[in-house]
Amino acid sequence: MNRQEFRKMLLIISFFMFPLTIFYFSPYIIVEAASKGIASGSMLVFALLFLSSLVVGRLWCGWLCPSGGCQSILIQVNGKDAKGGRHDLIKYLIWTVWIFTIVFLAASAGGLHTINFFYHTENVISIDNPMKFIVYYVVITILAVLSLAFGKRAGCHYICWMAPFMVIGRKIRNMLKYPSLRLRANKDDCINCRKCSRACPMSLDVNAMVSNGKMENSECILCGECVDTCPKDVISYSFSSGVE
Ligand code: SF4
Ligand code: SF4
Ligand code: SF4
Repeated sequence: MNRQEFRKMLLIISFFMFPLTIFYFSPYIIVEAASKGIASGSMLVFALLFLSSLVVGRLWCGWLCPSGGCQSILIQVNGKDAKGGRHDLIKYLIWTVWIFTIVFLAASAGGLHTINFFYHTENVISIDNPMKFIVYYVVITILAVLSLAFGKRAGCHYICWMAPFMVIGRKIRNMLKYPSLRLRANKDDCINCRKCSRACPMSLDVNAMVSNGKMENSECILCGECVDTCPKDVISYSFSSGVE
């Protein structure tokens, strides 16, 4: 089993465990809990994702996210590139409204006074009765519709409420320039075959990133597809400081 097969296996396992874990990523439970002054499990998970991004960027997205796993499977059905650029800004708009709602409700409740990791997951697993499967299927349907209509990992590009936490973490590490996980490229060896761009699950123009000597991209999920696809070993993972 090579690295990419292993990565995809992890994503698929994570996706199949989604009924157990889905509420720990819930954008709704965090809001409801905040309105009662409670820090829920999802709040702690989002905080952990932010902290992890300070060191490993969006590795979570490329290797472990259940929703990413679902969308990876859907790439087999619609492998077209999703439009990036200003379309990617939609998720930041959603995120900003959501964050302000959480802060407002928490402040109205007199601040967060309780931590309850298992808020709404008292039985630890998320889907513990058949009715809750409705939530699960709604989420899967939204991801499927976006992927089928707009292309590869469209949900990651346009609606994900978790991605901005990790993008912010990455910006901070880039500003502070301490060693962290990133991509490096030796552009002199590139033969412009564009295999990296075609392989990128986030529809990035990796070839252009290499040519421009700028491998930092807020949508890069460090999946390593470009690293493992390049016939000239131009791109590599690097645990180093500095921004190209
Ligand atoms: S962008 Fe969001 S949905 Fe996509 S892999 Fe990352 S955390 Fe998961
Ligand atoms: S640029 Fe490379 S590591 Fe980043 S998302 Fe695309 S294929 Fe994955
Ligand atoms: S796959 Fe490698 S050689 Fe081909 S365009 Fe990308 S970086 Fe250049």
